[in-house]
Amino acid sequence: MNVRENLKALNIEKRAYIDGKFVDAVSGKVMQKISSIDGTIIDNIAECDAVDVDRAVDAAKRAYFSGVWADKSPAEKKSVMLKLAALMEENIEELALLDTFETGRSYQNYLHDSIPKAVEVVRYFAEAVDKYYDKMIPPRGKDFGLITRVPLGVVGAITPWNDPLVVDAWKFAPALLMGNSIVMKPAEQASLSLLKLAALTSEAGIPDGVFNVVTGYGEIVGKALALHRDVRGIFFTGSSDTGKKILTYAGQSNMKKVALECGGKGAYIVTANCNNVGEAAKVLADNMFYNQGQICSAPSRVIIDKTKFDEFMNCLRTECERYVPGDPFDTENNVGCVVSVEQYQKIQNYIALAKSEGAEVYQAVGRKKHSEKAACVQPTIISNIAANSRVVTEEIFGPVVVVLTVNSTAEALTLANDSNYGLAGAVWTNDFDEAFHVAKNLEVGLVHVNSYGNDDNSAPFGGVKESGLGKDKSIYSFDEYSDLKTIWIHHSAH
Ligand code: ADP
Repeated sequence: MNVRENLKALNIEKRAYIDGKFVDAVSGKVMQKISSIDGTIIDNIAECDAVDVDRAVDAAKRAYFSGVWADKSPAEKKSVMLKLAALMEENIEELALLDTFETGRSYQNYLHDSIPKAVEVVRYFAEAVDKYYDKMIPPRGKDFGLITRVPLGVVGAITPWNDPLVVDAWKFAPALLMGNSIVMKPAEQASLSLLKLAALTSEAGIPDGVFNVVTGYGEIVGKALALHRDVRGIFFTGSSDTGKKILTYAGQSNMKKVALECGGKGAYIVTANCNNVGEAAKVLADNMFYNQGQICSAPSRVIIDKTKFDEFMNCLRTECERYVPGDPFDTENNVGCVVSVEQYQKIQNYIALAKSEGAEVYQAVGRKKHSEKAACVQPTIISNIAANSRVVTEEIFGPVVVVLTVNSTAEALTLANDSNYGLAGAVWTNDFDEAFHVAKNLEVGLVHVNSYGNDDNSAPFGGVKESGLGKDKSIYSFDEYSDLKTIWIHHSAH
């Protein structure tokens, strides 16, 4: 079944959401882009600028200092956020349609994987907030101290297009539950589902001004938000290059708190002691190709003992066939298009570079395209390539995995850590000591042992090195969206 026609029945909101109302950009400008699905035009999404950011931050500040949300009890906030999760679930088909329409990822995948995950994120944080305790410095004579977690105030979130509502929820759920007001800046490639969600926040009972969405371009809206002196924390997911800019903006303005979840080139180590190479190849394909490889934690750099190479490659070529892309609106397809024509071209350039360097390039056999203009890339495996090739060292953000061979686990570890990135990684081995040694020494924020990507909301997520700083997910995330405040009390009681 093709669900594209269902879009016609939707009343798609394309204006920014400020102070509880949908509004045009003050300039009246709108954005226009080309759909990666079929080349049609997607237009009329509000193109905001710094003036609109000012309006949203002012509204957020007013709401914050009024106490209308910040002063609600944890149980009250929990109940509102659980209602929001229920409303997201009720509107799941619409949210999935909007995200497919804008990003080209398959509807099936949004409906059964991405949006349900976003709902679970909201539930996880809502359920956690009233189990959260502050700490106390025990009495010494007539003194004692309270160590409390206080909201930052107005926070900003700048989010990407590859898993829009999941990453949005990683940020807005803990931010709101800690009592902050938030201004969200979605990626220009994926604004519509967050605008729909904005309407749901109001229905759930989040007061006007507490949750705002300012659409527009990163260098204009994102920059203005990150530079704003009334914004006390900026929370970002995107490329490492932009992450570095965000750090600079914080330094140029008010030293706001910064958390960054940036790029990656996940090392996927398979050692000579791995007895389950077929499973390793299957799990690799599942995590590498399901969203056309557009995942920052994708295991895009396989480092395998040369004794296991042939078996692994045979299995991986077969597994690739499960991820051949097609029309994202066709409910038979689990994989759709890449996000844009530009992204498509960037991926093709890397594949061409690998070929020009003499690498072996395998591509899964495709099917007939649903549209001449569809930007889909077949799952691609690159081997026999130098470890210092740009194809190996840079993040491609497409369904392209590189496979490097090594003679020992020590060599694998050295190669894995020889990267500017450090987001996620894996080791596959049946030797426990070896597994623990590699897990301990891999320079990443998250290591999977004999698995990949099946961690849940309780696992902190975020990298080291140029993959960023700070953590999304887990109750540690509450720490990101708050500050420690000590109240030292002297008393005369006896
Ligand atoms: P990608 O290359 O994956 O699109 P980006 O880092 O460019 O990643 O985008 C992630 C988010 O950062 C998007 O919301 C984008 O609009 C925003 N962004 C891009 N450039 C800037 C910038 N200079 N300042 C602030 N935000 C930006």
